[in-house]
Order: sequence, then structure tokens, then C-alpha cells
Amino acid sequence: MKNRLNKLPSQVQKILKAASLAAAKLDCSIYLVGGVVRDLLLRRSVFDFDIVVEGQAIAVVKVLAKIFKVDFSRHHAFGTATIIVGGHRIDFATARVEHYIYPGALPRVKPANLVDDLKRRDFTINAMAISLNKGDFGRLIDLYDGLSDLKKGLIRILHKESFSDDPTRILRAIRFKERFSFKFESKTGKLLKQAINTKALSLVNSHRLRDEIVLILKEPKPYRYIKRIKELEGFRFLHPKIRLKPADFLFFIRIEKELVTYRRKFRKLRINQDWLIYLAGIMLALPLKTIEKVMADFAFKKGERIIITSIKSKLKEIKKLEKCKKKSLIYKLLCPLSFEAIIFFYAYYPNKNLRKNIDFFLETLIFTKLKVKGKDLKKLSIKPSKIFGNIFEELLYKKIDKGIFSKKEELSHVERIYKRLSLKKN
Ligand code: ATP
Repeated sequence: MKNRLNKLPSQVQKILKAASLAAAKLDCSIYLVGGVVRDLLLRRSVFDFDIVVEGQAIAVVKVLAKIFKVDFSRHHAFGTATIIVGGHRIDFATARVEHYIYPGALPRVKPANLVDDLKRRDFTINAMAISLNKGDFGRLIDLYDGLSDLKKGLIRILHKESFSDDPTRILRAIRFKERFSFKFESKTGKLLKQAINTKALSLVNSHRLRDEIVLILKEPKPYRYIKRIKELEGFRFLHPKIRLKPADFLFFIRIEKELVTYRRKFRKLRINQDWLIYLAGIMLALPLKTIEKVMADFAFKKGERIIITSIKSKLKEIKKLEKCKKKSLIYKLLCPLSFEAIIFFYAYYPNKNLRKNIDFFLETLIFTKLKVKGKDLKKLSIKPSKIFGNIFEELLYKKIDKGIFSKKEELSHVERIYKRLSLKKN
């Protein structure tokens, strides 16, 4: 494996060599493990590195942080530490053994050696290591024939209790199978179905399930993954009433297509969370209150909840864009929405006029800016209060509908709006 390590970015190579020296000085052994080994063997790009230390991972990282003059984060309870160098994240963990007191429970963890650490892993292709130790640097350690499974394209668990110990591996198995277009090794496939039949996922802590579903939806083109989950397990682990129909899958394909179109057409748009668009699609048929509850139960972040719930709650209102000609109304409907929600609607509604209005919003309306500022309003002896916001809002809509260009014109509209609003108030 030395030749593969030599192809890593030079900064990473430097860190691995320094880590090797630091570990030797501290009398520890040190290994690259898991997905990074798999990806190196597959000649895929690797950005994040997992390192296991037989001994004290945090002590090794302390030495590296000093050499490379970077900060590091650590988690004493787990004996883990992370440094980020040259954009690469390198996670160090103290080798550990895991014990599950009941299926789906969070594992109890004890320090151990590399063999124990590899034993606790999910699939043979993820259970390989590369030694970074002096005299042994670059040797592949493959206790479960992971390399052979990698060549055969097989997802294989390490022991028959694997899925019941940790049912999140059901979702992980689907993720790796679809990502690499692999197959389940036959026993693994049977045990996976058995675990599904015993509703193993219902025993898992909701935060862990959330993390796995997010990872799946973050894969490039998640349509295939969603389809496979529906075929095998369904989405009852999110909510028992989620039932995806063939039309939903056509919609997921459209989302994939529109995301590509949009990224090409509107390079400046910041659509960071494609996965939320798919998640909104998966939950769309649930009532709003249920969606809110699922989002809260699975502890999705506030911003994520807002995007998903806004999609559900605005679904009907956005339909107005099919007939809408008034520019300020197009603006009013779309402005409060995230780009993720806008792409959702673009993929959801086939109506030409609606899509034209969305294009117009993104190409033009979104860039409308007022020339008049707060200080200009003060100069007109308008006192800063709630009325400021109301004036700016009305002025913006006027500007959009009537095409007001100069600051002078804007100011004359301000005076008119202000008079009207103050009369209304009195
Ligand atoms: P990716 O390429 O998606 O990052 P990865 O294999 O690196 O995939 P991670 O979730 O980062 O996956 O986990 C790193 C390694 O930790 C895995 O390769 C596997 O060895 C181990 N691992 C992660 N989750 C589990 C689990 N639930 N059960 C057993 N081993 C796991």
C-alpha cells in the first residue's frame, strides 16, 4: 500500500509520517483504518482520514498540533482527537472494543488493540487497516478478506449479530451498496432482511437514525438510495405513515435534474442542502403538524426545520404563481423562501408560467435593491420606528411593479407612502 500512500497530498503524507514518529516515541502503534483504506484501494479521492492508535490518541495529536502549529479538538471520554491541516480532517481514536447491552443501544466502549477495534466494524470492506508504524509502514492489514470483497463487489457483515447489535448498519449497508453499485453477500442480505422484518430500526436512537438518513440523502443523486430503502425497509423508521408512490419517485428524479439545471444556470445561488429537498419530498404527504413533530423528534436543526415546514405550508400558496402576472406578488411569494424550497417547487410544479415566474425571480427580481436608506428617511423627519420597515416594503414593491430607477423618484414615493401610512395610523 506504500505506493497508494505516496500518492496522497504531500501535506497529508507529512502528517502521517510525523504521526508515525510521534507514536513510536510514545510507544504506541498507529494505523489508518476504515473507509479511508477502502477508498485508497478503490483509488477514490480521500479527504478525511481516520487513524487508530493502540495507546493514547490524544497524546499523539498533542505532538502533531505542536509540530504543525494547529489547534486540535479532543474528546476525553472517548479518547479521540481531531486536527485539520491543509483542509484535511484527521481523526485520531484510541483503539477500542464495543459492547452492546441491548440491540440498538449506544455501545459501551473500552480501550483495546487494533484487532478488537477492527472486530467492531460494520462491513469487511470497512474493516481494513494500513500500518503507519516504523518498519511496517504501508502494510495492509486485512483480517476479514475485505480486499477480496472489494474486488468481488460485496457488502458483507463481520458476524451474524451485526445488524441486531446496531441496526443503523441496515442503512449503512444500503448506502455503501448503492454508492459502489455492489451486492449484498448472500448471508448478509438474508440477515439484513431478517433484521428489517423484526423492525430492528425502531429500536435505534432517533439521532443516530437522523445522521444515517442525512448521510444517505447527501450522497450524489440519492434517488437510487431512496428507492432501495423503500423496497427493503420503507421509511416507517421516520414515520409509520410515510408511503412513497411511483409518482414520488418521478418527482425525486425531477429534483436531481432541476438541481443540475439550476446550478448551471444560476452559479451564484447558494443551494447548500440538497438533501433537505429530498427529505421534504419523502415527508410531503404527512400533515404539517406531523412533519413538525418528526423534525423535532429527530432533533433536526432549526434552519432545517424551517426549510422543510415552509415547503409543506407554502405548497398551495405557491400554486398562485401559475397565473400570477404581478411582479411584486411573485417577489412576495418567493422572497421569504430558501433556495432549497424554490428548487423543490420548481421540480414539483410542471406549469410553464409558474416556472417562468421562478426564473424571473431568480434572474431579476431577487437583485432589486432600494437606493433610499434609513438616513434618507430621517432627513425627511420620519422618526425611526416600525413605519420604516413598512415604508421600505411598500417602496420595494412599487419599485418592482413600476420600475422606479432614480433615488429622487424613490424619495418622492417615500413621501407619498409616508403620508398615506400616517393618515391610516391616525
Ligand atoms: P464515508 O465514505 O461515507 O465517510 P466511512 O466508511 O468513512 O464512509 P464513517 O461513517 O465515516 O464511514 O465511519 C468510519 C468507519 O467507522 C467505517 O468505515 C467503519 O469502519 C466504522 N463505522 C462507522 N459506523 C459504524 C457502525 N455503525 N458500525 C460499525 N462500524 C462503523
